[in-house]
Amino acid sequence: MTEVVTRPAVKQLFINNQWVDAATGRTFEDVNPATEEVIAHIAEADASDVDRAVRAARRAFDEGPWPRMRAAERAALLRRVGELILQHQDELVQLESQDNGKPVRESRALDIPRSAHNFIFFAEFINKVTSEAVNQDGQFLHYELRDPVGVAALITPWNFPLLLATWKIGPCLAAGNTCVLKPASVTPLTALRLADLVAEAGLPEGVFNVVTGPGSTVGTALVSHPGVNLISFTGETVTGQQIMAAAAPGLKRVSAELGGKAPNLVFASADLDAAIAGSLRSAFFNQGEVCLATPRFLVEEKIYDQFLEKFVAAARALRIGDPLDPATEMGPLVSKSHYERVRGYIALGREEGATLVTGGERPEGLARGYYLQPTVFTDVRQDMRICREEIFGPVASIQPFRSEEEAVGLANDTPYGLDATIWTNDLKQAHRVAGRLVVGTVWVNCWFVRDLRVPFGGAKASGIGREGGKYSWEFYTEAKNVCIALQ
Ligand code: NAD
Repeated sequence: MTEVVTRPAVKQLFINNQWVDAATGRTFEDVNPATEEVIAHIAEADASDVDRAVRAARRAFDEGPWPRMRAAERAALLRRVGELILQHQDELVQLESQDNGKPVRESRALDIPRSAHNFIFFAEFINKVTSEAVNQDGQFLHYELRDPVGVAALITPWNFPLLLATWKIGPCLAAGNTCVLKPASVTPLTALRLADLVAEAGLPEGVFNVVTGPGSTVGTALVSHPGVNLISFTGETVTGQQIMAAAAPGLKRVSAELGGKAPNLVFASADLDAAIAGSLRSAFFNQGEVCLATPRFLVEEKIYDQFLEKFVAAARALRIGDPLDPATEMGPLVSKSHYERVRGYIALGREEGATLVTGGERPEGLARGYYLQPTVFTDVRQDMRICREEIFGPVASIQPFRSEEEAVGLANDTPYGLDATIWTNDLKQAHRVAGRLVVGTVWVNCWFVRDLRVPFGGAKASGIGREGGKYSWEFYTEAKNVCIALQ
């Protein structure tokens, strides 16, 4: 194993451009999932710290320069944050992989560059966005103004810590809001490092604040704080429901990106090698800890045996190990409790009568760390919990289907609706099926392709609202219509 941090760091809260201890002085441990060692002691905020942070953000919004700054000036500062992320890429890559367990090849190729892009894209966006005007019969002229909304609570999960946080921070700040970010407790390190970079870029006091601590206390205090106007949350569906309930009395605007259990439809006409390579990624990329993962494989009966054999062989060949090794393809799961939860689902799958075809165990030679083999079940029925509930680990199930009708029915038979993948070379079939899937994103012969201009979000229990380009802009701004009598 690569030697990593030897002495745990001590991390404070970032409020009003200052590093401060939690009011109680309490901290909690942050563990490297590959080594099971404590790598940092993190300040554990309470409601009074949340109040301090919201007040700082409130002051920065009500009295500070940020919402009133020219868009070009705000854009320059945000672009600078993006550039600083790129300048510190190596450090952030290491930090993200130590904290989360994801292989450095992924944090280097995806998490950190995309995090920079989230700032740079929205810095450009606010210099280009326009609004509409309507001439009503020559009698009245209406035009739309977009104002920032106020103080945002941004609450993020642990699977793409910096990427998902910056996906919110970029548009939120670009629109002229101020914010308090609460990262997931198991992966707070890159969000805290970002705070340094935000201060270095020269953002005014109170525009960006970070509080750390449990969702049940810190998150709850944040979303129910009267000084918060809007909430952008990414995480589990149940947490999303709790947050919406907490936001209701204050009529706060909520965007919720929630859980998923996506289908992966493989039709007989598909390019089999491409479908296997793609399915391997969509099931096991980031250890399967991806809301967009497609663990429910639906494979046309004609190619089922062939697909299963090749897919299982490919899964067994994945290189599992130290996330800091550039050759590693799968690292450990994020935490002990999550590891036990995923293993619990594997035991449940067996109890429910599914057949474990491969995986399900700790890989040989990796005695420490929360490592798990890529796992595949067959003989899975729709009513089994392993087929209905989000496992959020490297566990896929494979079911055969006979007709397109049956495939669409099985794909849509889920409480979730985040995304779906279709593998087919039949053009008409691709469009037909894409049109019938009740999801926020359909990928045809690809997966996990993101462009910040297109809408991202979930149907059904996978969320409310969309993020990306003008969709984020709409969420983070208040539309105001000005109506002028022309006569
Ligand atoms: P989680 O819901 O447990 O936690 C997410 C965040 O919410 C954390 O910061 C947590 O501390 C906080 N939180 C928890 N309870 C809270 C409460 N009552 N009030 C306010 N905040 C609270 O989710 P997780 O385990 O960190 O992440 C995994 C989940 O996230 C999976 O369900 C996954 O599908 C989902 N996810 C969705 C998307 C998407 O875009 N749809 C992206 C990534 C992850």
